[in-house]
Amino acid sequence: MRKKIVVDIDEVVLDYVNALLKHLNEKFNMNIKKKQIKSWNITSYYPIPEEKLIYEWERFCEKDSFSNLRLINNAKEGIKKLSKYGDIYFVTYRSKNQKEKTEKNLENKLPSLWQEIIFSNRNNKREIYEKLNPVLIIDDSSEQIKNAIELGFNFFLFNAPWNQEIDVGEKRAYGWKDIMKRFYKYL
Ligand SMILES: [Mg+2]
Repeated sequence: MRKKIVVDIDEVVLDYVNALLKHLNEKFNMNIKKKQIKSWNITSYYPIPEEKLIYEWERFCEKDSFSNLRLINNAKEGIKKLSKYGDIYFVTYRSKNQKEKTEKNLENKLPSLWQEIIFSNRNNKREIYEKLNPVLIIDDSSEQIKNAIELGFNFFLFNAPWNQEIDVGEKRAYGWKDIMKRFYKYL
């Protein structure tokens, strides 16, 4: 059986936050930058009633810019390289009603390089990790990386402004070039 490698989607392979901020900034005439975002609760960065922000967030998810989110720098080369060592399983918090858009975008941008997209939620990624038993997990969520550590799986924490609070030493990866240089040490 081939080895399995688990890769998160948003902010690891697809550039979600920049596109969302662009949409919200245009709507509310603001200029919030990705580097300012220290938590996933993006609504707290806008002095706008939460329901208005959630409404706009939902509109963003209906837009073509969401359906066609661009790749994070060097993600294609990275996934290509990793896929030679194991099957790529994307595990995401995205909701199932974004399934079609997500599959289409990843098929277009990373054709034939991955096995499956598994739609999880915040609480069951851990169970999915256990079930898949991957040789490597790549995620930008410190919460999920804590699960990987507890379960004893190899991982890279994909560096982001919102995951600075956790110290994982050399297992913090500064982009795909960094992962490509070092992943083989952990497989
Ligand atoms: Mg993510």
